[in-house]
Amino acid sequence: ISFAGLNLAEPILRAIADAGYTHPTPVQAQAIPQVLKGGDLLAGAQTGTGKTAGFTLPVLHRLSEKPAANPRAGCPRCLILTPTRELAAQVEESVQTYGKYLPLKSMVMFGGVNINPQIKALRGQVDILVATPGRLLDHVGQKTLDLSGVEILVLDEADRMLDMGFIRDIKKILALLPKQRQNLLFSATFSDEIKALADGLLHNPGYVEV
Ligand code: AMP
Repeated sequence: ISFAGLNLAEPILRAIADAGYTHPTPVQAQAIPQVLKGGDLLAGAQTGTGKTAGFTLPVLHRLSEKPAANPRAGCPRCLILTPTRELAAQVEESVQTYGKYLPLKSMVMFGGVNINPQIKALRGQVDILVATPGRLLDHVGQKTLDLSGVEILVLDEADRMLDMGFIRDIKKILALLPKQRQNLLFSATFSDEIKALADGLLHNPGYVEV
């Protein structure tokens, strides 16, 4: 199977070619068609499997296919939550790399840095927001972030987020999102706590395991 066989849009295929990728990894080959269909997904994948492109590529495709229902500044259509700043920065870099030929804008936010540049960035177009949970809730508290336009939610390394004690923050964030949305949960391991989170979050999910 090739990337072209996965029906990704031409600007995305061009960015993949620029990155030097010739074939999708197993998690990509399984996850991309399921995400493109619009349903929820539960994916078991470790770092190094190509999981980031597994959700980033189809998310970019879906957002580029359909204009925002109600475009507003600082109102992301896709929210990607990660446990750490390092991972958030890496994921947003991937979004930029794969989305470089699309008119979509991304932003990363995490704690431990000045909040003001983030507030300023939220006054512009933000289609894809990559965030750690704590700083995201700081913005919600300051009313500098509007989550009412989120169409796709990704929890990346969900097991690490739970290990780091983010379950309450995640629940608070979930309560702020529109009910009608696509949910993707990526995790390397599946404890009872992850299963409970997935049960509450995902509706008739597809499964991917690599
Ligand atoms: P990840 O598991 O998402 O952290 O990705 C691991 C590494 O694999 C990253 O450095 C990616 O740039 C690279 N990568 C992702 N997909 C592919 C692919 N289809 N072909 C070659 N390298 C890839």
